[in-house]
Amino acid sequence: MKEAQAILDEIHRAKRIVITSHRAPDGDSIGSSVAMYHFLIALGKNPVICHPDPSQSSLDWVKENVNIFDYENDSERVKQEMLGADLIFCLDYNGAMRMGEAMGTLLNSCTGKKIMIDHHPHPDDFVDIAVSNTTVGSTSELIYELIAASGNLELMNVSIGTPIYLGIMTDTGSFRFSSVSARTHEILSHLLAVGVEHTSIHENTFDNVHLDSLKLRGFAMSEKLKVVPGYRIAYISLTEDELSKFNYKKGDTDGLVNIALSVEGVRVAVFFSEKDGEIKISFRSKDRIPVNSIASEQFSGGGHLNAAGGFSTMSIEETINKFIELVPKYFNDLREV
Ligand code: 5GP
Ligand code: MN
Repeated sequence: MKEAQAILDEIHRAKRIVITSHRAPDGDSIGSSVAMYHFLIALGKNPVICHPDPSQSSLDWVKENVNIFDYENDSERVKQEMLGADLIFCLDYNGAMRMGEAMGTLLNSCTGKKIMIDHHPHPDDFVDIAVSNTTVGSTSELIYELIAASGNLELMNVSIGTPIYLGIMTDTGSFRFSSVSARTHEILSHLLAVGVEHTSIHENTFDNVHLDSLKLRGFAMSEKLKVVPGYRIAYISLTEDELSKFNYKKGDTDGLVNIALSVEGVRVAVFFSEKDGEIKISFRSKDRIPVNSIASEQFSGGGHLNAAGGFSTMSIEETINKFIELVPKYFNDLREV
């Protein structure tokens, strides 16, 4: 990482450092933010994390003893921290508006130096130093590379290593996606060597599921999983009413899109869910089938080749119909023979 020394210089110069990440923070946003937080503490700094909204509760365990604020619940504090910062890290996102309108606008008005570290394609020009590497599976892996390339690997410990492991794990489908490399496993090996407890990380993250949430998944699979007629494409949709019947909480529908993708023969899977009258869409694919083009061109979103997202302000039925109508244009190769 050629920017590592310049980043280290900025860290040493800075008096007030804020770490930010994208809206609806996932395991990699939380992992990279918390790892950077503990790295900065190890360098003698006193950073804070400011996120647009809280993460799902299954990630709470990794945030213990971490100074973290979110705009949704404490916008005044977030404004104060960000406007007063002389250095702002932008982790796991490629454009200011990925933090949402309010926090994106706030970021653009901040005078502190901005450093992006991210693995999403097509980054906007919104920072002073940009580390953009789309070949790695997670931003957390890039935080490890920053620590290594800046000559600070001797600082690696359980506090920094645990969130890095978490971010790599969640963004690679537990180390199975094609983005996992020999280097990824080398990093994981080092993390275990410094004492990171991998079994607890998996258990804390995946084995604390509410009964309602499991029942919601059962309902989604048995009643709401559909195949686009004539195509190797499956989708699941959930309305706000259906979600509330199962006392939906953030994170409850995570991974449902991958279940649709696991259907025999299926190459593209989509998940539509209704929240506050808007439809959030998640796209996943196998092989080299791009889903980010339909996401960015038709559903105001974007993302990676095999994992992308977007949204629609139409009704859920209209959104699904729009998608199905676009299938021949975007996924003609997935016609069943
Ligand atoms: P998910 O389906 O897990 O919400 O998102 C999968 C991936 O799609 C994310 O890692 C992110 O790269 C991308 N993504 C999701 N929603 C959006 C969006 O609204 N805009 C953009 N540009 N990318 C998104
Ligand atoms: Mn990520």
